[in-house]
Amino acid sequence: MKLILLGPPGAGKGTQATMLTEKFGIPQISTGDILRAAVKEGTPMGLKAKSFMDAGGLVPDEVVIGIVKERLQKPDCDTGFILDGFPRTVPQADALSDNLKDLGKELDAVVSLEVDVEALVERLTGRRTCKECGRGFHISFDPPKVDAVCDACGGELIQRDDDKEETIRKRLDVYNEQTSPLVDYYADAGLLQALDGMQQIDVVQKQMLDALQAV
Ligand code: ADP
Ligand code: AMP
Repeated sequence: MKLILLGPPGAGKGTQATMLTEKFGIPQISTGDILRAAVKEGTPMGLKAKSFMDAGGLVPDEVVIGIVKERLQKPDCDTGFILDGFPRTVPQADALSDNLKDLGKELDAVVSLEVDVEALVERLTGRRTCKECGRGFHISFDPPKVDAVCDACGGELIQRDDDKEETIRKRLDVYNEQTSPLVDYYADAGLLQALDGMQQIDVVQKQMLDALQAV
């Protein structure tokens, strides 16, 4: 299964990708997670990316295209992958297409999660993320078993710096301007499956599995 999860910040891509990796045994490739790890480690790429991420903007195309190109060559992607948060611009989508062609691979589907703006803000302001493994929770909609502790690894749950309301609004503007054209891009390619992401997590999950059975 070679899949892209598309949708604005807070749509539920990471939440659904975690479920899909467990179900299909294929890796989740989150460019946001990879970039945050690089920032944490203080690598040259992390230093370059940090100011764009803090401002709620996009990291330059050539940086993220390079990250994904390298990642897709790893053997764990042989049986499939879930791209979460990539591509986010038309040049990224074009580069992915070239890259997959070179690898002799083709996408099976692009699932787009549709969620209203105010619900996105509520989800992102209430999101808590594990400092150690990056798993996401929500203080009301998907709370951890123990307050502020990750169910998966016991790490501390924190609020991401870019999950503050002002930065969230900026990220949503960036999505509308630069990423939303990809909905038509993949519809034109005959790959798009649009899902109602406003439903509860387990309902979205079921819709997702039903949609994927058809591909
Ligand atoms: P994305 O990866 O698209 O930015 P996440 O998967 O991190 O989004 O979800 C954003 C927040 O919303 C998280 O706190 C998550 O627990 C919560 N969430 C995800 N899906 C739903 C849903 N269907 N209903 C309510 N909250 C959700
Ligand atoms: P995310 O975890 O997907 O919400 O991404 C967090 C931040 O990382 C974004 O706001 C961007 O600054 C950066 N980022 C992640 N993926 C990409 C991408 N494909 N292109 C450009 N910037 C990205």
